[in-house]
Amino acid sequence: MLGLLKKIFGTQQTRLIRKYQKIVSLVNAEEAKLQSLNEQELKQKTEELKARYQAGETLEQLLPEAYAVVKNACRRMWGTDVHVSGYDQKWDMIPYDVQILGAIAMHYGAIAEMMTGEGKTLTASMPLYLNALTGKPVHLVTVNDYLAERDCQWIGAIYRFLGLSVEPLTNKTPHQLRRQVYAADIVYGTSSEFGFDYLRDNSMAQSAQEQLQRGHYFAIVDEVDSILIDEARTPLIISGPTGGSKQMYDMLQNPVAQLVRFQRDLCNKLATDARKTLEQLGRISEGELVKLSKEQEAEEKDAYRKLWLVSKGTPHNKVLKRIKENPDLRSQVDKWDTYFYAEPNKEERTKTLSELYIIVDERASEYELTDKGIHLWGEMGGATDDFVMMDLGYEYAQIDAQEDLDEQAKMQKKVALREADSHRKERAHNLRQLLRAHLLMERDVDYIIAEGKIVIIDENTGRPQPGRRFSDGLHQAIEAKEGVAIQGETQTYATITLQNYFRMYNKLAGMTGTAMTEANEFKEIYKIEVLAIPTNRKGQRKDADDEIYMSEREKYNAILKEIQTIHGLGRPILIGTESVETSEKLSRILRQNKLEHTVLNAKQHDKEAEIIAAAGRRGAIVVATNMAGRGTDIKLEEGVALIGGLHVIGTTRHQSRRIDRQLRGRCARQGDPGTSKFYVSFEDSLLRLFTSPRITALLQRFRPPEGEPISAKVLNKAIETAQKRVEQRNYQMRKHTLEYDDVMNKQRTEVYAFRNEVLRSEDPIGIAREVLEGLCIQMGQKFFVSKSTEGGWNPEGFRQWLITNFPVTFESKDFDDDYLQLTDIEDRAIEKVLEIFNHKISHEEVLIRSVQAQMGDGSTPMSAEEILREVVRSVLLRHIDQLWQEHLLHIDHLRAEVNLRVVGQKDPLLEFKHEAFLLFDSLNLRMKTEIAHALFKFQMVAPKDAPAPKTRKKESKELEFRTNLSLMPELEARQES
Ligand code: ADP
Ligand code: MG
Repeated sequence: MLGLLKKIFGTQQTRLIRKYQKIVSLVNAEEAKLQSLNEQELKQKTEELKARYQAGETLEQLLPEAYAVVKNACRRMWGTDVHVSGYDQKWDMIPYDVQILGAIAMHYGAIAEMMTGEGKTLTASMPLYLNALTGKPVHLVTVNDYLAERDCQWIGAIYRFLGLSVEPLTNKTPHQLRRQVYAADIVYGTSSEFGFDYLRDNSMAQSAQEQLQRGHYFAIVDEVDSILIDEARTPLIISGPTGGSKQMYDMLQNPVAQLVRFQRDLCNKLATDARKTLEQLGRISEGELVKLSKEQEAEEKDAYRKLWLVSKGTPHNKVLKRIKENPDLRSQVDKWDTYFYAEPNKEERTKTLSELYIIVDERASEYELTDKGIHLWGEMGGATDDFVMMDLGYEYAQIDAQEDLDEQAKMQKKVALREADSHRKERAHNLRQLLRAHLLMERDVDYIIAEGKIVIIDENTGRPQPGRRFSDGLHQAIEAKEGVAIQGETQTYATITLQNYFRMYNKLAGMTGTAMTEANEFKEIYKIEVLAIPTNRKGQRKDADDEIYMSEREKYNAILKEIQTIHGLGRPILIGTESVETSEKLSRILRQNKLEHTVLNAKQHDKEAEIIAAAGRRGAIVVATNMAGRGTDIKLEEGVALIGGLHVIGTTRHQSRRIDRQLRGRCARQGDPGTSKFYVSFEDSLLRLFTSPRITALLQRFRPPEGEPISAKVLNKAIETAQKRVEQRNYQMRKHTLEYDDVMNKQRTEVYAFRNEVLRSEDPIGIAREVLEGLCIQMGQKFFVSKSTEGGWNPEGFRQWLITNFPVTFESKDFDDDYLQLTDIEDRAIEKVLEIFNHKISHEEVLIRSVQAQMGDGSTPMSAEEILREVVRSVLLRHIDQLWQEHLLHIDHLRAEVNLRVVGQKDPLLEFKHEAFLLFDSLNLRMKTEIAHALFKFQMVAPKDAPAPKTRKKESKELEFRTNLSLMPELEARQES
């Protein structure tokens, strides 16, 4: 079956390659023709191709010529100086055929898988140039700011030569220049800059002129797996302070820390007790095992049970770790796992676990308090019901049943109860996150502390992600745990996942050295295919088998030995690590052994490109977190190829095979020689968490002497299986995030579309009228459902609603008439509401004129109509934004809440979808209602301390007027009291 699939897959790939190769020949033929043109004539090609596109030729028809133009431009630029990253470089690139092939694949919306060093940066120039001929926005997405600048200067030389504009977009690009940047034909920038600008355009811009982006036509994502897979787990969020924080992290931190300490002490005691017993029984030292009495056997068994318990309470316990280095002891501990796994022993398992305060499931990244833990929490001053939810429905019913209370009193009781409930929920939530921070988040692995702030480390890349925060209060919890300043509670103003941002482009393509293992995900989520492009020269890299050790200690010793040997030959070495912590550990080892080296870890992001670029020098040793310096080429110093090229050492297998391939790909580029090898130990988290207990049994059999690697083919297989399992799990997690965001995406699109309409409309007052009309219709439908059902026709209710919401009067008879149809009723209501609104508008207009007359000579640059239009526009915008933000907050809460319902056998996603829909419905109604209120509320007033207008120049007067204008909506609050 698999073989067959592979075959079909294989042939499909080869078929495409063959098809595109024919186009490559066309490109080359065209380019040959272009060689006879003079430079001016070549440059004119851009205008010509643009004109032909406008006249109806398709991009596919233009492709061979356009690509040929790029190739020919490269030929002409040969030997010229290009200024890149502070240095002058001689241009020395003309696209190879495989690059043209990759360029064709990308135009057709594929991900071109091209090995590191194959020249993807140049490859992208062809589809970018072609698509920019349309005049529509074309973006190239890089992994970091450095590469955006570099590639824009470097490859940008081609576009500039051919008369297209290109701009870099980085974190440093000032806001006021960004509109200009986006106006360029081609923009090079990072995904977060693009994404955040999109969010700002749609949630903060107050006028169409403030919006930066021109739209989303074509994007190529460089290192596409890094951006669409690794980074896709945390959505982009714009947030700001929220009014009235209720968080209690500060207050809860100490007791939580204490609870965790109790647990640690308990486990420590269990572990040392167990060790003592095992020592006494001669189980720890090597050599002949003495025969044990029955009693001693029981003692031994209990010691292992204790250790098992420790593994559930504090998985990182040092004593436990040490004991597990010995495969015999390890298998004894694991036996308890198997034993408790069996159905009849479940109860005993629960009972055993109840000795702990907290049960930690590292694998699922979850934890749970036992009754004992909850009890202790109570004794430490916590509330025992901190972990129990209130059943509001039940409590309300109780209140309703109290006959001695009147309606008012019942209402008050319910409000008080709801307050108490929300306080309790907040407290419980803070508590949960604090415990998570203590039990599952590790410093220097999951985050670092930089300049008194908690900075997230991306678990795949080891990069710090300043500016991003763990969501849902976890960040604050970690701040409390580490004793750094707790940032105020924030509220989401706007949010989007990268997945949904990139799905907005009409056409999306990508390139990377490693996409095949995730081909399925790319296809399912983004509908893009991965096409493997052959290399320009035959690859020379030799990958050694993994070396597998029992303990980390032995593993590091072996790595050190290897470094010494290879370094002795003068070959450069690149060592990839999984975390900042390992980088530092390794650096210590190297220092102790007097090996000069450079450490490149997440903490020094700025210099990484330079260091990586120098990693190919003779004798260089560079220690780097996985994928640090990604996108920067490692060039070998002269002579290094002769002694074998770069040697890459992986210090563990990563959770994803893709990251391992990425590391290997750092050597042997463009036909250079190079070698790679991975070192693994049974203490690595991948093996610790994701291999089966059967492996331990196997280890006992293949157990090597201290310091020797274990060689068993089964193990390689087991590691790969573990990796696949984690990959699958991570994919599910990303899909999960996306499924939730998809629900939001529909709502976001709708609200943003409405907002943009308001922003760009010539006639916002017209939109305001539509809102009023829509509201009347919507409410009409609520009050008049059917004449035949009891209470289904409610003229009085409708009348009451109208008079409470609008400054209008209606008589009872206006709607209470059997001959009236719903549409008649609606018409009547709308007519009157609009009449009074029109009246209001003309009244304000008169007011503005009189203010204008007071202020100056009457020739104010903005007419009264214009001013009024802008005021209404800003009233609309303000309410859209405010209510949408509130909605996002409700959605956040809903997300947290549905997860609690898993207990009730309900599918949280379904629950979420359903309730998010209801919430959106009520948002819709609330938005209309509040806008309606505001439309009747605002009033124009003269600026309070307007300076004597006549002494001012006209220009500044205009400014004054505008400033006051923008303040206008604030006056609202002062209005009605
Ligand atoms: P990738 O992104 O695929 O890893 P880069 O775009 O960083 O590769 O290019 C790697 C190196 O190959 C660069 O130093 C570049 O100058 C060189 N290169 C790329 N294409 C060509 C070419 N057609 N001719 C000569 N050198 C090239
Ligand atoms: Mg690259």
